[in-house]
Amino acid sequence: MLSIVEPATEEVMAEVPRAGVEEVDAAVAAARKAFPGWRAVAPGDRARVMRAIADGIESRLDDLALIEARNAGKPISDARGEIGMVVETFRYYAGGPERLIGKTIPVAGGVDFTFREPLGVVGLIVPWNFPLAIASWKVAPALAAGNTVVLKPAELTPLSALELEKIALDAGLPEGVMNVVVGPGSTCGSRMVEHPDVNKIAFTGSTEVGRGIAAGAAGSIKRVTLELGGKSASVVFADADIEQAAAAAPYAVFGNAGQDCCARSRILVERSQLDRFLSVMESTVKAMRVGDPLDDSTEMGPLISASHRENVASFVPDESEVAFRGDAPDGPGFWFPPTVLSPASNSDRVAREEIFGPVACVIPFDGEAEAIRIANDTEYGLSGSIWTRDGGRALRVARAIDTGVLSINSNSSVRVSTPFGGFKQSGIGRELGPDALDHYTEVKNVFYSTEASS
Ligand code: NDP
Repeated sequence: MLSIVEPATEEVMAEVPRAGVEEVDAAVAAARKAFPGWRAVAPGDRARVMRAIADGIESRLDDLALIEARNAGKPISDARGEIGMVVETFRYYAGGPERLIGKTIPVAGGVDFTFREPLGVVGLIVPWNFPLAIASWKVAPALAAGNTVVLKPAELTPLSALELEKIALDAGLPEGVMNVVVGPGSTCGSRMVEHPDVNKIAFTGSTEVGRGIAAGAAGSIKRVTLELGGKSASVVFADADIEQAAAAAPYAVFGNAGQDCCARSRILVERSQLDRFLSVMESTVKAMRVGDPLDDSTEMGPLISASHRENVASFVPDESEVAFRGDAPDGPGFWFPPTVLSPASNSDRVAREEIFGPVACVIPFDGEAEAIRIANDTEYGLSGSIWTRDGGRALRVARAIDTGVLSINSNSSVRVSTPFGGFKQSGIGRELGPDALDHYTEVKNVFYSTEASS
């Protein structure tokens, strides 16, 4: 059995059976068996099942949010927002089956047209930071395109995925179309990657594990979508609304206790405004409400585990240039206070590695060219922000930064209807928006001769 721990209390909140390789093989066999039936379901009927799943999740929104808040240690108000996004994701992709349209291409001697065919069985491996939300970004487009799935949640946070499996069955999803396997990545995850009957792996997690998945998938040319780490920059020019940028900055890195691949953990500030920026940021950080995830007013909860807290703490040794810190409760729970290091250099370890905790570094820069150079001086390229009142500069810098998701005068990263994914070592492929359906289908081209037979 697997004990599921509540990170805010360190207490066991549930026990669930732990799967191994045999259970993965059984789940893949069930998905393989269900595939011909599910792909043959008429598009409108597949859409209806997807909408019913969305309704089922919505009817249990509070209950699922509570599971997520307790199990992942995230503030209940964030958890409600995330489950709301899960509902929206299933509704958005309910439009998918009827919009998997092909092309007709002018050619000589006949008619040429394309289909988008499902891939078959898709293995989905997801992390603990946004458990059900990230699962839904994969499950919904995969099902909409006519695939069947095996979903492996992180062992730390499997409870909401198990509930989704029940909700989907109740909503009319045929048996075997969606299968949840709760087990360790090192055995269950890697079995999914090497399994000959799995046609694609969609993974969110660390760049290190993603690299192993890409290598494992290469053996059978298995398709992969990888959504990996980030070390995103928020670039604040001197002509920006400094108060607005500085008040927003803490939420863009301390949200979800920094356990967010889009965290803007490198904050680049034009040198002339550094002091003003830090002073506004300091008052916001000190006022942040860090504590019980189940309290409606909480803005930041604990980290996911004791070992993760130890890793985060290793980025802030005693000699660190801590500019200021926020609060964190004492007592049980894996707490770590929001921490801002300044002035930092982009060559410091804190600026190079993904910390995945509430630690930000503020790096001064001089001029646009240096800002772009520092923002791009990283192996990652997932997200980022540009703060300026100069429209031309905003667009110049947006085109020059090598990253998949940027926002101007905002810290937003993820929307159900827009593509999400990384450049460089932040990943391969795109999730969400219209693009995700392309990654769960294969293009088939058909030529139909119209020559008269003699
Ligand atoms: P991992 O990449 O180890 O875990 C993510 C998922 O992959 C989990 O379901 C895990 O299973 C599974 N997994 C682990 N090893 C394998 C494997 N060999 N083959 C297939 N699947 C595997 O992330 P961690 O949880 O260890 O977090 C470590 C760091 O990764 C974080 O500190 C952060 O920097 C980064 N990260 C980035 C995320 C993002 O959103 N981009 C999300 C999570 C982490 P299980 O955990 O059940 O063993």
